[in-house]
Amino acid sequence: MVDVILKKGKEKAVLQRHPWLFSGAIEKVKGKPVNGEIVRLLNDKGAFMAYGFYNDQSRVALRLLEWDESVEINEDWFRRKVAVAVASRSSLLEDGKTNTCRLIFSEADYLPGLIVDKYADYLAVQILTSGIEKMMPVIIDELQKLLQPKGIFDKSDASSRAHEGLETINQVLAGEHPPEIVKVLENNVTYGINIAEGQKSGFYCDQRDNRLITALHAKDKKLLDCFSYTGGFTLNALKNGASSVTSVDSSALAIETLKENIQLNKLDASKHTAIQSDVNKQLRALREQGEKFDIVVLDPPKYAPSRSALDKASRAYKDLNRMGMLLLNSGGLLATFSCSGAMDIDNFKQVLAWAALDAGKEVQFIYQFCQPEDHPVRASFPEGEYLKGLLCRVY
Ligand code: SAH
Repeated sequence: MVDVILKKGKEKAVLQRHPWLFSGAIEKVKGKPVNGEIVRLLNDKGAFMAYGFYNDQSRVALRLLEWDESVEINEDWFRRKVAVAVASRSSLLEDGKTNTCRLIFSEADYLPGLIVDKYADYLAVQILTSGIEKMMPVIIDELQKLLQPKGIFDKSDASSRAHEGLETINQVLAGEHPPEIVKVLENNVTYGINIAEGQKSGFYCDQRDNRLITALHAKDKKLLDCFSYTGGFTLNALKNGASSVTSVDSSALAIETLKENIQLNKLDASKHTAIQSDVNKQLRALREQGEKFDIVVLDPPKYAPSRSALDKASRAYKDLNRMGMLLLNSGGLLATFSCSGAMDIDNFKQVLAWAALDAGKEVQFIYQFCQPEDHPVRASFPEGEYLKGLLCRVY
């Protein structure tokens, strides 16, 4: 096995079990490992620190896997990690009301660069590191043994793969190609998922709990669902007795699928309005029309892809939330989210405080939303925490 020597004074993060090692922390690579190969990390005195995947194409040159020298990183190691992750989701799936969730969440499940989402009988996989790519035959075999899926589809995200020097792939890895629409159940709401064409791996299962919690407030209420995608918040609200829901998304495919999802769930389409539009434009148009709502949901895409983008993103979040607040009846609820890892909950509260001031509103935070149990945050990897939200009462 190739040895990689750490620069003096760079031990701390490794000892704290942070799974990333940046190329700048490496003193020397003793040999010529191929990308994705498992190497041994030693400190400047030659003492063992960790095993990890090597990749000289990535800023994260080592993805650390194991800190115990006596543990062999072999096929069985990967099988064990897959099995433990899958088993930890079983309680989520056992009541029969939900058959879609994230089974493996990359670093948080000790498999850096591997994401596996379950969509009823199909699995969608994202392979984001060369190390995981090499291990895929074993991982696929283990997933098949544990779950017997009808098909496993590779939905690897183009931009993340480029960072690792990998090409974009969209193909069947095992079994059959998923049908154009796979029907899944989440908290007894049915969704048609287009795995191949949909965004991300097809569905935003990270909002499962937050859709349910928001819908608890929706009975007899008039709700505006901004960035609705295929209707996560819309469908739950209608199911829970909302008097009307308006959904806004810029994607034609999302709006079309949302309309189909209303039919699939036998919900009253007369209570629903779908608008394909830019949310920022639409919020202004609704304000000009004098529209008011009891609940506004704001679930935008990631505005801050990195820490350096935080200032600009904060202004965009502020403006969006200000507009949302202005459309609420007094005492109405704003369910507002940020899936930018760079924006933490304290920053987000600050943004909402600015938005409230600008809107001339009083805001109470009445609940904090977070990512659900199938998107765990590993204590040694705070970067894995990305989804946060606030339920606000606005006066
Ligand atoms: N709330 C959704 C997930 C939202 S994902 C759910 O529960 O499933 C973000 C959505 O924002 C995507 O559907 C994307 O099409 C949409 N989007 C991105 N930018 C937009 C914009 N400027 N205006 C309207 N929709 C936008």
